[in-house]
Amino acid sequence: MCEKSFGSQELARGKFVARIVSLAAAVFFLRRPVFKMLRSGRQLFAAALLLGLCTTANADDVLFENVRIFDGKGAGLSEPSNVLVRGNVIAEISTSPVNAEGAERIAGDGRTLMPGLIDAHWHAMLAASTPAEAMGDVSFASIVAGDEATDTLMRGFTTVRDVGGPAFGLKRAIDRGIIPGPRIYPSGAMITVTSGHGDFRQFTDLPRRIGGPLTPMETSGGAMVVDSPDEVRVRVREQFMQGAVLIKLTAGGGVSSPFSPLDVTTFTEPELRAAVEIAENWGTYVAAHAFTTDAIRKAIAAGVKCIEHGFLMDEATARLIAEKGIWLSLQPLPELMRTGLREGSVERAKAEEVWPGIGRTYELAKKYKIKTAWGTDVLFSRALAQQQGAILASLTRWYTPAEALVMATGTNAELLALSGQRNPYPGRLGVVEEGALADLLLVEGNPLENMDLVADPSSNFKIIMKDGVIYKNTLAK
Ligand SMILES: [Zn+2]
Repeated sequence: MCEKSFGSQELARGKFVARIVSLAAAVFFLRRPVFKMLRSGRQLFAAALLLGLCTTANADDVLFENVRIFDGKGAGLSEPSNVLVRGNVIAEISTSPVNAEGAERIAGDGRTLMPGLIDAHWHAMLAASTPAEAMGDVSFASIVAGDEATDTLMRGFTTVRDVGGPAFGLKRAIDRGIIPGPRIYPSGAMITVTSGHGDFRQFTDLPRRIGGPLTPMETSGGAMVVDSPDEVRVRVREQFMQGAVLIKLTAGGGVSSPFSPLDVTTFTEPELRAAVEIAENWGTYVAAHAFTTDAIRKAIAAGVKCIEHGFLMDEATARLIAEKGIWLSLQPLPELMRTGLREGSVERAKAEEVWPGIGRTYELAKKYKIKTAWGTDVLFSRALAQQQGAILASLTRWYTPAEALVMATGTNAELLALSGQRNPYPGRLGVVEEGALADLLLVEGNPLENMDLVADPSSNFKIIMKDGVIYKNTLAK
């Protein structure tokens, strides 16, 4: 378990109350001179005085002093700089001293200040529970997911794109400050077809009567089975009603599903188009799980904007993805995921087919300069979830640390912005620049020289800030 510190939220609330009280007192005592100025026609002076009152009381601002910035875009660190966070926004960045009277000062001592990390393929409700818990004991699974969400934030992941699972309530609890956790961009239930990837029903659940009762898998909100464009429309709209900001569907077979062979293309084109049409009506996009050339090409032809995995595609398809400006969301899946599957099982056999494609696909993504997002796709394993930073560090098989960190910050944030009208956190994420949302990590050392620093967040991330609030600060000790 990672260290958790909840005090800073209460601290911020206390400081806010103090600011209101001091402002009220100042207005009370200065009301006469202000009225005098107003009456004598000196409105400008009065306005300046009131504005001054508002801008100098900066009790809950935070000033990072003497930090070297990795901005989420470039390949190097800045000169020693000062960064002022006002509210939930980065207000000022300067190599000169910053005037921030009353702000909490943090002595950076030359440490690295960088954007909070973003995992573009996460399952907040399914990462730490077993499948049986996730589908059969939803209240227990929700509490496990809440605890894991706090760990996720304490690993420096300030945002996740959740591509399958009933994460709406968890997101609400985090946004309301009930539990600490990352910002969540949820897709809601994975949309699949009978015997598609994500259909975890058993033979005893068959035959399905259209319009009939739902299985626990569906009522839990993990996955929804659709077998016609009309059913697609219903299930997709239901996700949006609950707060989905993108739609995730499974356009081809997958490793962990017992009845979905890898070579099968699952959705028909009219079904894919139905999902894309509704998503576009809602101002956002569809992301499709797809390994094979066939599944990827059908998805792109129907208007899908992001391909998840793609590990069995041919070179011509990589070129097509690049030409069309489609996003490719890749994961450097760790060996433990493959070896964790029982030898001799259908799932293990499929993993043996997929795994050699991981390195090949990263090479293709680089060769054709595809817009590449990074994620982990951890499922049903808290031990693996704790490796989230290590999985990011493993990208150095193909990328420099700077390239990998840009992917997990600035580039992933560009993918998040594809949610358009449905973006739950409008504002710039994944970068350190003036006006951006203040999701920040203060790192001991330089991760651009030593990527392994991100694999050990409990030692190396000294401060974790999300939305301007400090959730971890081990410098204070
Ligand atoms: Zn996944």
